[in-house]
Amino acid sequence: MTHHGFDLHIHSSASDGQLSPAQVVQRAKERGIRNIALTDHDTVEGLLEANLAAGDHELNLINGIELSCEWQGMTLHVLGLAIDPRSPAMQEATSVQKENRTQRARVIADRLSKLNFGSVWDTLSSQLEGKVPARPDFARYLVEQGHVDSVQQAFDRYLGAGKIGDVKQFWPPLAEVVAWIRKAGGIAVLAHPMRYKMTTAKLRRLLEEFVSVGGKGLEVSVPNLDSGRIGLLAELCDRYRLLGSCGSDFHAVGRPWQDLGCFPPLPERVTPVWEWWLSKADPGCSNG
Ligand code: AMP
Ligand code: MN
Ligand code: MN
Ligand code: MN
Repeated sequence: MTHHGFDLHIHSSASDGQLSPAQVVQRAKERGIRNIALTDHDTVEGLLEANLAAGDHELNLINGIELSCEWQGMTLHVLGLAIDPRSPAMQEATSVQKENRTQRARVIADRLSKLNFGSVWDTLSSQLEGKVPARPDFARYLVEQGHVDSVQQAFDRYLGAGKIGDVKQFWPPLAEVVAWIRKAGGIAVLAHPMRYKMTTAKLRRLLEEFVSVGGKGLEVSVPNLDSGRIGLLAELCDRYRLLGSCGSDFHAVGRPWQDLGCFPPLPERVTPVWEWWLSKADPGCSNG
């Protein structure tokens, strides 16, 4: 099930991952993965450290981001791969998303405080030293304060899709995040399509719209997806002419099913997303 040269969906401590960007790169090297994309939620702040740690030859670091957006009342995640993190579009995207996350976190904190879970905002903001709390931080808070037994239970009861802490109204529309990614020179890939629990008909409608606004890739190979569903995603790639991506969505060590490089291989009929940037980078014959 493992060995892949590419893992294109990875988190570091720049967002809600456990390892620093340099530690992520080190772990990828140890596991023999030659190409990784660091895709922190709505931030590019880990990329400089990751690039320095990657060095020149041992590991190819693809600059990435995972942007949250809204589509038909749902929160979706879109990966931007091979972006220029210093482009004006990425600067704008990350500052808008930081503001959105701040407003959203205040609403989540208020809602949890109203459930008598204490002064959520004050406690978390003093713990996080300026970082905006994300849902995993709220989950850990609820565990620490003894309101739930585990992070999973916190999501199941209070923070997961459709629960009181699932606040979506601050996210920009799908078309806007795709536009940011394209203006930053990158390719937009719909992340973990099966996690939204849509019907296939709705997923098709989503992909039609995604393609019409400039989306080019679909995450096909992810951990814990059976071959039937991977096959369906491969078919959707054919139908909508999407390139296929693969990634672990790594967040922390100690989850062996979600470690770097751990996911089924991309089906052969799928054109891999890296062909997009490899063909762009190919200098070809440059005389004249
Ligand atoms: P946020 O970016 O603040 O919306 O937080 C979303 C993050 O919370 C995801 O990227 C996951 O890391 C984590 N998460 C979301 N849903 C769950 C869940 N049901 N159980 C555990 N973690 C989750
Ligand atoms: Mn996450
Ligand atoms: Mn995601
Ligand atoms: Mn992710």
